[in-house]
Amino acid sequence: MRKLAAGNWKMNGLAADLAEVKALIAAHPAPSCEVLLCPPATLIAQMAAARGGAPLLIGGQDCHAAAGGAHTGDIAAEMLRDAGASHVIVGHSERRGDHGETDAAVRAKAMAAHRAGLVAIVCLGETLEERRAGRTLEVCAGQLAGSVPDGATAANTVIAYEPVWAIGTGLTPTLAEIAEVHGALRQALAQRFGAGAAGMRLLYGGSVKPSNAAAIFAVAGVDGALVGGASLKAAEFGAIVAALEAA
Ligand code: PEP
Repeated sequence: MRKLAAGNWKMNGLAADLAEVKALIAAHPAPSCEVLLCPPATLIAQMAAARGGAPLLIGGQDCHAAAGGAHTGDIAAEMLRDAGASHVIVGHSERRGDHGETDAAVRAKAMAAHRAGLVAIVCLGETLEERRAGRTLEVCAGQLAGSVPDGATAANTVIAYEPVWAIGTGLTPTLAEIAEVHGALRQALAQRFGAGAAGMRLLYGGSVKPSNAAAIFAVAGVDGALVGGASLKAAEFGAIVAALEAA
């Protein structure tokens, strides 16, 4: 299993910011882990051109479940692929929160990703209220069951555990808490998919920074990270890539 450092630029990035991508490639021309950047859709094609022959993967941040049609403002998985993407994030908590996306909607988007030949990065995670109520494992297992389609394999799906309260806040669970959730998710995947899911990557996401990356990557069951804010600058994201390579 190759580990994965994935960056989510969210609604950030103009053409001038592609300089960061070039700097990242220059500093890490041949990483031993997979490195993925998910820019806003407006930059996917330009980022694909900017990477040249470098092994940088590019992804979308969301897709519609349909392959096309009357859905103003939405983007089909096929369009992301056509623009140069190989991956797409689905079910990010900001999509679930801002756009009311349910597990069923996320599952349909993951199926659309698979239909288009994209790797789906399915995000899930508990809110602070759910953690305080002792419901973390139950909530994460429920989202995993509801959001991940039956056709998921290690090749076409990555799971990202992202506690909602850790995203963009500088807060993180303890290393033991991360290990507990990753262990439970791995067990649930094995029960549902058997040996086929053994290589499915489980990322941690939520305030991963150069300062905490090595400790998080040392946690059993963490196969990489989904990184928001710290993925915008080549120096910060590069340090996280280096920590994953060293893990
Ligand atoms: C994210 O958006 O998936 C994320 C983890 O953000 P941040 O790293 O900024 O917390």
